[in-house]
Amino acid sequence: MLRNARVEAVGCENFPTLQQAKLRLRYDEMQVAVVPGITRYHKSDCQLIRFLSADDLDVMTKRAATEAGCVPCKACKPDQVASGATSG
Ligand SMILES: [Zn+2]
Repeated sequence: MLRNARVEAVGCENFPTLQQAKLRLRYDEMQVAVVPGITRYHKSDCQLIRFLSADDLDVMTKRAATEAGCVPCKACKPDQVASGATSG
C-alpha cells in the first residue's frame, strides 16, 4: 500500500506504462498448447485438446507460438486474458 502510494506520487505518468508493460510481458509469457502440425494455439484447459495427452502437445509461451505463425484458437480464445483468474 505504502509503496504504491509512493509510486503514484513520484511518477503517476510512468506507473500506468509500467503496469501495462508488466501485463504485456505476463501475457506474452502465458503458456499455451500447440498441436504439432496445426498452427493454432490453445489454453491448456481448452476443450478441443482435452482428449490429447501432454505428449501430443507442444507447450510454449504465447509469444513463441505467435512467432511460429500460430493463431489463437477460436474456442478457448487464448488471446483474451481472463480477468480475476490469475494466481500469484
Ligand atoms: Zn482451444
